Formats: sequence, structure tokens, C-alpha cells
Amino acid sequence: MSVKDIFETMEYGPAPESAAPALEWLVDMGDRFGCFIDGKFTDPGETFEAKDPATGNVLAHVTQATEADVDTAVAAARKAQAKWAKDGHKRARALYAIARLLQKHARLFAVLETLDNGKPIRESRDIDIPLAARHFYYHAGMAELMDEELPDAEPIGVCGQIVPWNFPLLMLAWKIAPALAMGNTVVLKPAEYTSLTALLFADICRQAGLPKGVVNIVTGDGAVGEMLVTSDVDKIAFTGSTAVGRRIREATAGSGKALTLELGGKSPYIVFEDADIDSAVEGLVDAIWFNQGEVCCAGSRLLVQEGIAPRFYDKLRARMDKLRLGNPLDKAIDVGAVVDPVQLQAITDMVDGSNGDIHRAPGPLPDTGCYYPPTLITGLSPADRLMQEEIFGPVLVSTTFRTPSEAVELANNTRYGLAASVWTENINLALDVAPKLAAGVVWINATNLFDAAAGFGGVRESGFGREGGWEGLMAYTRPKGAGKEITPIAPYSTDDGNPIPPLDRTAKLYIGGKQARPDGGYSRPVYTRGGKLLGHASLANRKDLRNAVEAMTAARSWSQTTGHLRAQILYYIAENLSAREDEFATRINHLTGGRSGDKEVAQAVRALFKWAAWADKHDHRAKPVPMRGTALAMNEPVGNIGILCDDARPLMGLIEPMAPAIAMGNRVTAVASSPYPLAATDFYQVLDTSDVPGGVVNILTGDHAELAPHLAAHAGLDAVWSFSATDLSQEIEHASAATLKRTWVNNGRSHDWPAATWLAQSTEVKTVWIPYGE
Ligand code: NDP
Repeated sequence: MSVKDIFETMEYGPAPESAAPALEWLVDMGDRFGCFIDGKFTDPGETFEAKDPATGNVLAHVTQATEADVDTAVAAARKAQAKWAKDGHKRARALYAIARLLQKHARLFAVLETLDNGKPIRESRDIDIPLAARHFYYHAGMAELMDEELPDAEPIGVCGQIVPWNFPLLMLAWKIAPALAMGNTVVLKPAEYTSLTALLFADICRQAGLPKGVVNIVTGDGAVGEMLVTSDVDKIAFTGSTAVGRRIREATAGSGKALTLELGGKSPYIVFEDADIDSAVEGLVDAIWFNQGEVCCAGSRLLVQEGIAPRFYDKLRARMDKLRLGNPLDKAIDVGAVVDPVQLQAITDMVDGSNGDIHRAPGPLPDTGCYYPPTLITGLSPADRLMQEEIFGPVLVSTTFRTPSEAVELANNTRYGLAASVWTENINLALDVAPKLAAGVVWINATNLFDAAAGFGGVRESGFGREGGWEGLMAYTRPKGAGKEITPIAPYSTDDGNPIPPLDRTAKLYIGGKQARPDGGYSRPVYTRGGKLLGHASLANRKDLRNAVEAMTAARSWSQTTGHLRAQILYYIAENLSAREDEFATRINHLTGGRSGDKEVAQAVRALFKWAAWADKHDHRAKPVPMRGTALAMNEPVGNIGILCDDARPLMGLIEPMAPAIAMGNRVTAVASSPYPLAATDFYQVLDTSDVPGGVVNILTGDHAELAPHLAAHAGLDAVWSFSATDLSQEIEHASAATLKRTWVNNGRSHDWPAATWLAQSTEVKTVWIPYGE
């Protein structure tokens, strides 16, 4: 027999990892777990079974936490927080100790994770656990650097964290490490299917000497998650399904709780005809069959260029037919067990309902356990359910495209925006396509690369907020200072019958660079404090908003302009405003009845200069990720932003949010100060004379409360900001759940926000991974 024959006929022998150390740990812990609260395990209460999905064996009994447990955990976290926040160096030492202990017990964690979740030991051992440890090392550094590098930031307080079952320990690390680094304390709820590594982690916290109350773990089902959401926490960080994310957005609306959501995805995997096909096929194995496809950023939607499609599918089928499926503890296994019979059934039902061309890998399935074969479905149209919905299993769906622009269109034809992979040997093409993809992460000639230094998170219905890197710290800090309570301002209403200007002018709306009559045809008089008529302001309605959003969308090329050009236009606005400062100052004094109009105009000019300065200086970052290559953190514009302006300052209320937003390449529709709208309407002329392209800034006047829900629910807006003196935070956050857009509301308080906050609110960080080498 030749060596070639031997290679071709050789079967894999079994290479099982022993389950014994993990099972022994479970026995040592009594096989029954309480919650981990205030530094110790509570007595087990009513329990549910933690099962091994590969065998169906019961591994342990885990407590279904009660409302009292959740409240006690939150109270313990609250009590511990102030002291924990005091000393960054002590926090760094604690996080470092946790990282060391995670490494020391890495094999135990890996085996326990595989037993509880069904993922191959190769993945838990080589990916989940090392990455979890890396997160703690990286954030130990952030704890050390916080005081020096983030002097304006303070911790949010007590963070409620809810994680899913697909990467139980890794998601825990992504949540807990940055939270603790920034001086927060946490109450974390693992998924019901996979609580065991979180409980082992609690044990590690004890060994690391973490002060009691800093980390608390409450176990149980979704009901416990709901309790945590409504408990006395200051923030909720959630990873899981879009449906539950939406419910949490509604439940936290108006509560003042900070929120980050990392939700589902249907990430495109784009293969151009000049790609290295064998590498792209191998990449797909990682994209969709890693972790049984139970990955939020799985490359689950293959888009392949038509010319190479038949050859590519042939190679792909040949490769997937060779994947080895079976006992996840076997080190030579590629695909393990799906997490639970419920998930297995969900995958089965979705695939069985498809009328595509289904290819399942032929290998035999084990007799027991939750297994689903690697599957490819071709011949689907872009609108097919399986092309749009997350399957969360080892199932790849595919369609073809002809041109790069069609690839981008298909890739973006989803409500999600988590990740994307681009395969081509042409770097120009790759770097042309990457910025056009609606995704928080783009991998070029690679897939599923993660690191603590690189931000991860989505846009659209994949959620908001980033985990990892400097940008991830925004999710666990807030600017120092509590702000001032805002008192609503009623418009002056008495009419002494004497108009101030000789002409009774009705200011129109400003949409698409033109003055437009309000759709409803209504306006309201605006008076001075002394009761003199200043003019009329139009009352915008939902249709005017719709027109403004259309104008913003048509002005999308603004987002591709250079920072230099945007800076020049902002300087030009400042210059033109400056030339009319007396007129604006008088107008402001008439509107407010004050005398500080000149100061407000000077502030506005200064703000325009400041954001002209920033327009070309919000640098992208190249992240030092541990590979030969780089991960670029690109500060992209958010898109279309709807703004309810500060009521108290007729001009600054508009300029303060408008200037950073357009400096960063966004298009805005601003609803001017409700009581004092006429300085914003005068400002049209400044915009007209300053080369601002039509549609980049649109200005409406009208009632904030009436327009707020329409802004929040509009599918064409990517973010809504409210600085209104009427506290509309609840209405906006609640209505935003429909589209899961970003919101920034004032909760009835005014703040002097630092530049870092404006920059963060005006941009989305897109991480583009670029490996080097042939
Ligand atoms: P969920 O979104 O339901 O679960 C995520 C976490 O939220 C779990 O800890 C869960 O608890 C908890 N939870 C459930 N309901 C609530 C609630 N009302 N309030 C607060 N927390 C809650 O995902 P599933 O586990 O049910 O999976 C369903 C589908 O979601 C999958 O098939 C997949 O498509 C998608 N998914 C996406 C993930 C992602 O990373 N994008 C991750 C996981 C799932 P418990 O598990 O105990 O019910």
C-alpha cells in the first residue's frame, strides 16, 4: 500500500477528552447550585436540570431564581459599587487574577462548556476559553488606564447582564470584563440551557478574592431575565434574539437605564469570482459550521458570483460531506450537538419548510443527542424566508450575483447588520465593498475573527453598542455629572395686537434645501414676552417628517464626502452666521425675552468652528489584534438622525447637535425649539448661502410631543436624539423598539456633553479585519 493510499483510506481514530474533571467538579459542588450572590452561593431553591445535549444526560440541578434573589443580588451589587469604583489599580489586579485563573483552569472550563452546550471541545478549548481569558487581560489594562485616559468618564453603576447559550463563558467575559474594569458591579443571568460555566466562573471569582457583591450570578429562564430588566439596575446589556431585545427596549423605555443590545444577524458571505476558492470554501466551514452555526455573526447567507457558482458549490459540497459530526468531546470532531431538542426542532422546522434545493452532509448521525447535519440550500430568491431569517443552526443558504453592486445590494437586503465576509484577491474591490456593507464588522478574506481590542456589534436590527476596544467602554461609562433638571417652557401667548416686524411672516419648513409649506396647512403665532407678534411658525406633521426623511436619504452622498469638505462647509456656515450676528442676537432676545442673544450667537459660531475642526480629526484606529494583519475601527456616520432641539436656546439648540452630526457625515432633520422656533427658521438663509447640499439639514417646526413618536418609529431614521424640554424619553425609547434604532434622550435633564459623547453618538464604529499575506 502506498503512502497516498494510506492517506486516502485512513480513518480517524477516536480522540476523546475525558469528562471526568468536570463531572468531579459538579459532584464537589453537590450537583445542585444556588445563585451566586454577595460573594457566596445561596442554598438551591426550586431547580431545573442542566443537560448534556450530546447525550441527554443530566449534569446538574440549577436554581430558578426568584424575584427576591434578583433583588438581593442587585442590592449586593449596589452596596459594593462605590468602593469598587474607587481604585483602578485594585480593579486591574482583580481582573488580572481572574484572567490567570481562567487560564489555569482552562481545560476544566472547556470540558464543562462542551458538556453543557454541545460544542466541539476543539472550539471551546482553542477559541471560547482563550478569548474569555484575553478579555480579562485586556480589560485589566483598561481598569489601570481609566483614570488617566478617560478623566471625564465615570461608571454607570449596577449593570444587569443577560447572555445567550451559544458562547456561555465568552459572552459572560465580553460583558463582565469591561463592566468591572470601568468600576461597575454586575448581576448576570446566563441562559437556562447553559448556566454551568457561569457558576464555575463564580467559583473563580471567590478564588481571585474579588470583593463580595462585585459579581453576582442569578440563574433561571427568561422570566429571571425579565425580573432583572425591571429591577433596580442602572443598565441592561443583552445578547440574544431580536424579539427579546425589542421587548427589553420597550420595558426599559423612559426608565433612564442605559441599554446595549447585541442581537441576531443574517450575515452575508460574499465570494467574488477572483477569490481563492479553496480558501473561501475553508472559510465557509468556519463561517457557518463553527459552533453548529449557532453564532450570531455566522456567515449564514452565501452570495457567490455567478461565473464560479457551479464550481464553488461542487467544492463546497465535497468539503461539507467530509465534516465529522459526533461526540463533541472527541478532539477530531468538527460539528457537535445543537444546544437543546427545542433548538433542534426549530432548525428542522425551518429547513423542512423550505422549497430550495437542499443538500445535507451524508455522514451518519449519532443515535442519541441533538444533532443536525451540515446543510446547504441553494436556488433561493433573496426574499425567501430562509434568506431573511436567522436559522441559528448548521444551515447555509445561498444565491448568486453578477456584479459587485448587486452583491452589495443583496448583502444589505436584510433587516440585520451584524457582520459580513468579503472574499476576493483584489484588495481594491474588497476595500471598495467593505464600507458599503451595512454591518458592524467586516472580515476580508476571513471570517469569525474576534479580539478584545476590536469592537464587535451591529447596526439596524442587530442592535446597538459595541463590545471590545476603547469603543466598548462607552457602554459601561457615562460622562461625569448628573446634569440639571429641565423645566418645560410654555410659549408666550398674550397678544397685545402689535406685530413687531412690519410684515406678518409665516416661516415655512426647510426640506431638501427648499422652503416648504406644511402639509397640514397649519401654523401658530409666536409672540414676544411682552405679547407682540413676531410671526407665525408652521406646524409640521407626520407627512412633513416623511418628506424630510426622503430628502435626507436622497442626500446620502454627504456621508461619502471628505472630512475636509465638511469642515469647509461648517466654517462657511460659521462665517455667514457671524456676518449676521446682530440680526440673530436681536431675534433671540425677542423670542426669549432675555438679553443674551449676542452670547448665544457667539456660542453658535464657536460650536461651528469646533465641529469644523473635528470633521477631519475623528481618526480611525488600527487595532493591535493578535494576528498578522490589522483590524481597522472606522468611524462611519450613523446615517439619518432626527433631533428634537433644546427648547431654551433658539439657535444653539439647533447648532449644538446639528454641527457634530453633519461634521461626522450624517444627515439631520431637526425639530426647532417649540416655544422659540423663529431663529431656526431664519437660519435657512445661512444654510442656503453656505453650500450645504439640499437634504443634509432639514428643519421642521411644531410640537415636539406630537412629532416624537413619529420620529422614533420612522424606519428611515437611524437615530433619534431628544434635548426637548418636554421629557419625551419614554415615548421615544418605546416607539424606537419597532426598528431598534439608536436613541439618545435626556430623561428630563440637560448636560454639557463632552466632545467624546457627541462623537460617539454621531458615529458607528465598523471594524474591518484585514489579514496580511498570501
Ligand atoms: P433569547 O433571546 O430568548 O435568549 C437570550 C437570553 O435572554 C437568555 O439568557 C434568555 O434566558 C434571556 N431571556 C429570554 N426571554 C427574556 C425576557 N423576556 N427578558 C429578559 N431576558 C430574557 O434567545 P433563545 O435562547 O430563546 O434563542 C432563540 C433564538 O434567538 C435562536 O434560535 C436564535 O435565532 C436567536 N439567538 C440569537 C443570539 C445572538 O447572539 N444573536 C443568541 C441566542 C439566540 P433563557 O435562555 O433562560 O430563556
